[in-house]
Amino acid sequence: MEIKIHISDTCQSCGGMCRVPVGMDIDANDQPYTRHKPCPACEGGGRTGRWISIEEFAQLLVTLTQSTNH
Ligand SMILES: [Zn+2]
Repeated sequence: MEIKIHISDTCQSCGGMCRVPVGMDIDANDQPYTRHKPCPACEGGGRTGRWISIEEFAQLLVTLTQSTNH
């Protein structure tokens, strides 16, 4: 049996920005700007849940411990 752990992680599609660029457009002042739309992967929440293996979870714990113990 394989053990999987459900975690809430930063959305990989938008990097937690909640929106993704869809292309360039021109605004009312003739200035080009990047158009965005809500990220379809996290639906604008910036976070997605995913399932990771117990090995990945162990790795994640090590990473988190190292990043907070400096
Ligand atoms: Zn997203």
